[in-house]
Amino acid sequence: MSTLASLLVLGTGARMLSDVRAVLIAPTSSQVATRFRLGNGLEAEGKACVLGSALLHGPVKLAWDRVLEERSHDSDTSVIIHEFAHKIDMADGEASGTPPITDRTQARAFERAAEDTLEGLRSEGSAILRPYAGTNRAELFAVASETLFSDPDGLASAHPSLFRVLEAFYRQTPRRSSGVELT
Ligand SMILES: [Zn+2]
Repeated sequence: MSTLASLLVLGTGARMLSDVRAVLIAPTSSQVATRFRLGNGLEAEGKACVLGSALLHGPVKLAWDRVLEERSHDSDTSVIIHEFAHKIDMADGEASGTPPITDRTQARAFERAAEDTLEGLRSEGSAILRPYAGTNRAELFAVASETLFSDPDGLASAHPSLFRVLEAFYRQTPRRSSGVELT
């Protein structure tokens, strides 16, 4: 867990995790009633599986069965990266979907890319970001952060402007392995 959380802040420094007050581990996930955005203005009601959560000025909660499942299946999703990305977003005191960026030009570029991506997600969906990213800007940042580290080339191809601002923010250029691995 700490390895994945550390991966997020390799370029920016651990101060980005200053809002992490505690990490609580639940043995299993739970379900809550929710509304889903389906795109084209359509919504559906149903139950959502809560795999983790991040509370502003509070703890990160993780369902440990999910953490283990993702690890055993080399999953493209990561509840750890997702929830800790929320905490990075919250490092400036709000869960706005824009992480702390001091450079104003960079912050404006981030806002523009995020807004454009969210609009596109809600109207046309995405080939790579799961629909939950369309919930709001905060979820877009968390889901896109997962994808940046699990499928950077896919994100760069499907959402180049979002990829560029995430890469600039995280100060990292993740790339998938070429597939050649020597042991
Ligand atoms: Zn989330």
